[in-house]
Amino acid sequence: MNTLQELQQQLSQCRMCQDRFGFEPKPMVWGRAEAPIMLIGQAPSRTVHLTRRPFNDASGKKLRRWLGTGEDTFWNQSLLYITAVGRCYPGSTGKKGGGDFPPSPICAPNWLAKEIPLLEPQLYILIGSHAARYCFGNKKLTELVFEELYYRGKPAFVLPHPSPLNIKWFKDHPHFEEMVVPSLQAAVQHALGDRQKAA
Ligand code: SF4
Repeated sequence: MNTLQELQQQLSQCRMCQDRFGFEPKPMVWGRAEAPIMLIGQAPSRTVHLTRRPFNDASGKKLRRWLGTGEDTFWNQSLLYITAVGRCYPGSTGKKGGGDFPPSPICAPNWLAKEIPLLEPQLYILIGSHAARYCFGNKKLTELVFEELYYRGKPAFVLPHPSPLNIKWFKDHPHFEEMVVPSLQAAVQHALGDRQKAA
């Protein structure tokens, strides 16, 4: 597999987790090679699975507010490359407040590990503990959120998952928005630069 286009084509046909999920997986593929920002999330929600648009849900609404981007910029595939540790909706636990199952453990080694080296973004934004662990090992998410980070030599942010179910983290860290969001928005604007106007 040599090019991003080849990888994306093969990824979109992946059904390796069909038995694990008990339904047909629908891999989410979103972004072009030239995108200056790479966003690495956890796994698509059911709404994203159905609508085929990443972060097209309550989490996405909050995330776009943090990033300071409107929908046009956020979903412009030449500006934001949106990937994830798990590329398919993993199904719901069915428990009240339990959310979805974690991303399939076989996904990132098979796809994300090959995808990341094919891109050269100016900024990495990692959403939630699964993405943080993938890129920064076992370091605690909360420490990473408040640290100045670099990934593959470029500025990086680790964000708590914006899911409405992640109530406790936000209760425990009421100053998150005040402390992190202004520098996040500045980094996003810097990475987008003139590309945003040209797009
Ligand atoms: S979660 Fe990943 S490995 Fe599993 S079917 Fe989807 S793309 Fe393939």
